[in-house]
Amino acid sequence: MYPKRFSSSPAHRCLVSIGECMVELAPGADPDNFRLGFAGDTFNTAWYLRQLQPGWAVRYMTAVGRDAVSDAMLAKMQGAGIDTRHVLRDPERTVGLYLIALQNGERSFSYWRSQSAARRLAQDPDVLAQAMKGAALVYVSGITMAILDDFGRETLLGELVRTRAAGSLIAFDPNLRSQLWEDAQTMCRVVTQTAAVSDIVLPSFEDEAEHFGDANPEATLARYLQGNTRTVIVKNGPGAVLFRHEDTTGTFLPHPVRTVVDTTSAGDSFNAGVLAGLLSGEPADQAVQQGSRVAAQVVGQRGALVPLDCAIS
Ligand code: ADP
Repeated sequence: MYPKRFSSSPAHRCLVSIGECMVELAPGADPDNFRLGFAGDTFNTAWYLRQLQPGWAVRYMTAVGRDAVSDAMLAKMQGAGIDTRHVLRDPERTVGLYLIALQNGERSFSYWRSQSAARRLAQDPDVLAQAMKGAALVYVSGITMAILDDFGRETLLGELVRTRAAGSLIAFDPNLRSQLWEDAQTMCRVVTQTAAVSDIVLPSFEDEAEHFGDANPEATLARYLQGNTRTVIVKNGPGAVLFRHEDTTGTFLPHPVRTVVDTTSAGDSFNAGVLAGLLSGEPADQAVQQGSRVAAQVVGQRGALVPLDCAIS
């Protein structure tokens, strides 16, 4: 049962998210002026977790440069109450960047991240072990694995296994982004390996159908429900969420959102709501409902990071 791992008092609960945060340039009211922000899937989830559970320690582990924009990124994280003590500073590199372009009302994304500092976040097992030490939960995504080289992937996987054996829960969102991987076969292999060392897997059906050929959410759930993975929650946009947690299987249809403004970070914020719920010892259906409520607020506003209505938690 999960609560046995959460027997420490909530005040000592520490959540660690590992991955890449980037500079975001988003169009402002004047098309020639871009607004600078910071976002990235695992960071977004950390940011929402911190909003939902301000009493818990939320730590972000990544690598950034030593330049001014890296300082600004860390200041943004710290300003949100996120612990950045284990963020590495790479003197030779800086943070990745993406730009959102608007054309006829449609958003498109351009990325400059192939040489980002975060690609070298997992070169030293001791650094990873220190970052994860004492965590109730460690969260990684398929994007975390995608940006690493083979050595980094092996190193991170090894430390996830060790940390899990020491009592931490591992949560994983496959977040399949084929353009970040060297080839589709490697993506599917590494994602499957990472899921196999995770307690909680949080896939999105549309991506899984495209890359693994799943016929329906049940097929996605069955594929990830292997080994010691006891919780699989399959998101499906506005469609029903299918979940299995311990011995409970169920579905939940998210309430329709009247005006969907921007689905950026829908899955990341959903994950935060679910993880906050499960770690609080809530039953799976309530945790999934909380994830959907958080995501509904996020898709109703522009941007990856939106302030939540505090009543949600
Ligand atoms: P991802 O962003 O990882 O692809 P999804 O698109 O499946 O994830 O969305 C995650 C969650 O966000 C859904 O389970 C749902 O709760 C909410 N959501 C996403 N799109 C919509 C929508 N159009 N209407 C209502 N809720 C949505």
